[in-house]
Amino acid sequence: MLKQRPYLIETLTAIGLIAAPFVLPHLGFAPNTVNRILVWGLFGLGFDILFGFTGLLSFGQSAFYGTGGFVAAYLLTRTGFSSVLGALVIGMIAAAATGYLIGLIALRRTGIYFAMITVAIAEVFYFVEFNPLSDFTGGENGLPGVPTPSFNLGFTTLHFTNGWSLYQFIALCYLIGVVIALRIVRSPVGAIFSAIRDNPLRATAVGHNIHGYKLTAFVIAAAYAGFAGGLLGVLQAFMPPDAFTFETSGQLVMQTAIGGRGTLFGPLVGAAVWLFLQDFLQAAMGLGAAWKLVLGVVFVLLVCFLRGGIIGGLIDLVGWLRGKRSKALAEDVPSVPAVEIGQEATEPEKKSGLVPITAGSVRHDDERMGPILVARGLTKRYGGLVANSDIDFSVNHGELRGIIGPNGAGKSTFFKMLTCEIPPTSGQIVFEGRDITGMRVADVCQLGLTKSYQVNQLFAGLTVRENLTIAALAKLRGKFRLDLFRKLDGVTGLREQVEHTLALVNLTRRADTPVAELAYGEKRRLEIGLALATSPRLLLLDEPLAGMSPRERIETVRLLKSIARDRTMIIIDHDMDSLFELVERVTVLQEGRVLLDGTPEEIKTNAAVQEAYLGGVHGEIAA
Ligand code: ADP
Repeated sequence: MLKQRPYLIETLTAIGLIAAPFVLPHLGFAPNTVNRILVWGLFGLGFDILFGFTGLLSFGQSAFYGTGGFVAAYLLTRTGFSSVLGALVIGMIAAAATGYLIGLIALRRTGIYFAMITVAIAEVFYFVEFNPLSDFTGGENGLPGVPTPSFNLGFTTLHFTNGWSLYQFIALCYLIGVVIALRIVRSPVGAIFSAIRDNPLRATAVGHNIHGYKLTAFVIAAAYAGFAGGLLGVLQAFMPPDAFTFETSGQLVMQTAIGGRGTLFGPLVGAAVWLFLQDFLQAAMGLGAAWKLVLGVVFVLLVCFLRGGIIGGLIDLVGWLRGKRSKALAEDVPSVPAVEIGQEATEPEKKSGLVPITAGSVRHDDERMGPILVARGLTKRYGGLVANSDIDFSVNHGELRGIIGPNGAGKSTFFKMLTCEIPPTSGQIVFEGRDITGMRVADVCQLGLTKSYQVNQLFAGLTVRENLTIAALAKLRGKFRLDLFRKLDGVTGLREQVEHTLALVNLTRRADTPVAELAYGEKRRLEIGLALATSPRLLLLDEPLAGMSPRERIETVRLLKSIARDRTMIIIDHDMDSLFELVERVTVLQEGRVLLDGTPEEIKTNAAVQEAYLGGVHGEIAA
């Protein structure tokens, strides 16, 4: 998520674009080269939203570049349509519509399969352009005679013909493209794009419709590609058939990697390096086609040593310098001890009502009575293996239930079915009177049922606050919303929800720390915080104490006691001392079946439970 002073990047971009015609000629850049770089940069703005921000690597962007380009060029050269800007916008809409249809197909798969589908689709478009549609596209001749824009202002007419004159028009288009792209990546939708890149599973689990958001990113990238394709025709006065080639898509990917993905400006910088090297090595050094050898070496070196590309490297350098400076400052400032869970809250915290509730605080009984969740005859088979068999289970509003059982007893499978991560082979799940069997995870989370995972499922590239923001957004905005131009700060209640959750899991002082820098116990608390930020009415916790040191366990048990106050919770854990201290009733699973259901006291002394755990050696399991 880009956090900057308002309009700083926009202003710097505008200054850079105004200064370029005065500076770049001295560095050996011809105006035509600069215009080509800007077209690639505009093409790359959309691609970076798709690849850098959302994590979807497409090798098929040439399909949309070509579509937008040929629609605009066809309108301007064959139909008598005279508005260049109008044709560019129509080309962009055509590309976006094509992107929507292609996205519906390609996004059915993820990872390498998604990438392969995009390659195949680009190839299909290339074939269609050359064969069935060659009457419209000019086949291998392309479409010559694309005009340049002119605007009649009444008192005068502005013509943007070529060189630095056309630069003004293209630079303005690029600036508008940057302003829009920045608004998008800073919006709630942009934040969710980053969450999908980092952990699509968790983005769904906290209640977002990630398919809808991926499709949105795909359409945005197609729209940018379509507009840039149209500009290519205008720039060259000719729409070339190679806009549709696989090489175009490949070049875009490589330029983005060279410049730095996830930076918006990476593709522009990558294009500058690429085209400068091309012009310099091919023409000035006389290397001919061999210039690509040098480019290949540059690419390999950059990818190996600057994984974030040129801009990523610069950002790292600035971060490192800042880190050194703040370290030097920190040495002069006495360190502040971390707040322990259960520690007395400060006065401002008490006043705000966002107090981490102390251990041992009394739970309020839920006003509603009766079961919040009922499972009937729940069975899950994996081939011949029965992981859960005919489980009947019920939890009341406000109850704190524990689930125990030896490894392989089917506890995690049971949780996965309750949150609809996996469908049951047979049986029914009713949550707050509603049959949720077979529903999607995101829908179930939206209804108020979610879980924290046994193995942390965090958004690793984001800070603690950003992680909780993603979860809170799902609660506050619903499953899917296209508020592309809204500021993140503008989401009502978001700040309060995030601050409240930070306080609840005692991570307020670590709010701006990247996840990678957290200690394990802190990560576990954030894992629970992600589930809490969705404001669940029923919270499932899958081994919240797993892998913790004894000290971390004590802290986390305190945390669980405090968050249990207004919630219904079901907790799986192997640490029976801690679990029995926390919960009111315990369900014991063994070999996929319910062995027993009772109070902690009843469970501790039950012979069948002793048998299940200790293989017949009798004695109390938790004294
Ligand atoms: P627990 O959480 O109690 O340790 P699990 O629910 O993880 O138990 O597993 C119960 C049984 O189901 C185990 O025998 C496990 O190997 C099997 N199982 C769990 N998930 C799968 C899967 N995706 N495919 C096949 N078998 C599975």
